[in-house]
Amino acid sequence: RVGIQLKALSKHFQGKTAVEGVSLQVAPGELVSLLGPSGCGKTTTLRMIAGFERPDQGRVFFGEQDVTDLPAEKRRVGMVFQNYALFPNLSVAGNIGFGLRVARWPAERLRKRVGEMLELVGLVGFENRPVQNLSGGQRQRVALARALAPEPRVLLLDEPLSALDAKIRAGLRTELRRLQLELGITTLLVTHDQEEAMSMSDRVVVMNQGRIEQIGSPRELYTRPQTPFVATFIGSMNLFTPEKIPGGFRISGHEVALPVTPNGQIGVRPERIELSPHGPFGGVVELVTYLGAEQQVLVRVGPDLWTVFVPNQVLLQRGDRVRLRVPDDAWILV
Ligand code: ADP
Ligand code: MG
Repeated sequence: RVGIQLKALSKHFQGKTAVEGVSLQVAPGELVSLLGPSGCGKTTTLRMIAGFERPDQGRVFFGEQDVTDLPAEKRRVGMVFQNYALFPNLSVAGNIGFGLRVARWPAERLRKRVGEMLELVGLVGFENRPVQNLSGGQRQRVALARALAPEPRVLLLDEPLSALDAKIRAGLRTELRRLQLELGITTLLVTHDQEEAMSMSDRVVVMNQGRIEQIGSPRELYTRPQTPFVATFIGSMNLFTPEKIPGGFRISGHEVALPVTPNGQIGVRPERIELSPHGPFGGVVELVTYLGAEQQVLVRVGPDLWTVFVPNQVLLQRGDRVRLRVPDDAWILV
């Protein structure tokens, strides 16, 4: 088991910044996600760790070993990509054993290892199938088995579930995380899907325009986002710029006392807002969306449209007048 350490990694393409000063420590056995919008530098960071891309500045360590100058094939990383990248002319077993043949594993040991991998990813009985006949989910399991077969020191996953249907994606999330915990393999997962990052990771690194915005556990990021970017990128957030007035603040055209003194923006999560007859914020319901477990209600409050999650037994309709209350401890300063 080794951890990964990134020390101030930077990478530019044609003078344009792709990654800037990324430092990160991943503990042995930890699963950490790189989360951010398309183009923020996630894949470039992963490729520098894998050895496919040379950093302009910074170092990459696996445990105590500086691997920055080591070629990709000597780093012992397993990789899985969004687009499967399986060898189409090989069977399932042929794909899984590919790296082992390249590394000249003896035939008997190779056969045994492929068997173990088939079992690990739940594809026993599929060994002789051509990979073209497999579903997307099955292909990604083959890709995972192929990545893990040569006993890599770290596992790097670049949007491994992004091409799959929602239902299969949700199932594979759980499966992948359980497997990672069972093997205890240090893993970096790249994704633009905040639900995926939050549900699978020990810690999440939020990236924006090549830089790290915030690193934290899923709970920390959700309850204590430190920037407006993180606050709105993770989950749903009502964000306001309060106006200081004598004796308090004005938010959405309403005068309120705040338990804190904002110097930037202030936010509140939709599930923390309460319908309350004497709440300070008066508004009108514009849209009710029934989501099953709850309803998402858009309420016009002065110039702003608030998103509020309301228990599904409360009957509301467009045009209803409501009053909203925000508990003191629900305000988030960003
Ligand atoms: P992400 O994986 O978060 O979507 P990438 O790491 O792929 O982001 O890209 C980061 C930035 O670097 C983007 O602006 C992208 O266009 C640019 N980029 C990535 N790879 C190359 C390359 N080989 N040549 C030129 N620009 C690149
Ligand atoms: Mg990418």
